[in-house]
Amino acid sequence: RVMLNELLHKIVTDNDYLVSEKSIHIKLNCPEQLMLNANETLLYSALNNIVGNAIKYTHSQGTIDINATTNNDNIVITIADSGVGVPEQQLPLLFHPFYRVSDARDRDSGGTGLGLAIAKQAIELHHGQIRAENNHSGGLIITLELPTKLTN
Ligand code: ATP
Ligand code: MG
Repeated sequence: RVMLNELLHKIVTDNDYLVSEKSIHIKLNCPEQLMLNANETLLYSALNNIVGNAIKYTHSQGTIDINATTNNDNIVITIADSGVGVPEQQLPLLFHPFYRVSDARDRDSGGTGLGLAIAKQAIELHHGQIRAENNHSGGLIITLELPTKLTN
């Protein structure tokens, strides 16, 4: 069983060097007692890539909001950043292996384009869903829904 609050805090701490380098402000909101049956290593790597992306594709002094709540039998986790977002027509491609938005910032930032494809596999293995949308106020929002009851 995974304590989501602890896992999310660990991810924030593990990315601290990048966050402070860019003076990014991370707000994390997760109920203390939220537990789920999941493979902790897989869930860590999925969430760590999503948070890593939010940091990588957000300007200095930006903000990242990480929220977790329960909704019926699901745990809903959102990671919203104040970064550049993704052109609307490219949103469906983000989860394809090796897909990277063709933009100068990607050439600067490095990466293989596998992170979100792997995250999607990990979430689906847990019978969950993942989606991406642009925030009205700018930046990208990644939403994960995971069933509370299931074992992986
Ligand atoms: P890797 O994760 O393998 O190191 P990557 O970060 O480029 O490389 P993904 O995590 O799969 O690959 O993301 C795919 C692409 O989606 C990125 O290259 C980037 O263009 C876009 N993207 C992902 N997250 C964000 C975000 N938070 N804001 C803007 N663009 C994003
Ligand atoms: Mg990535």
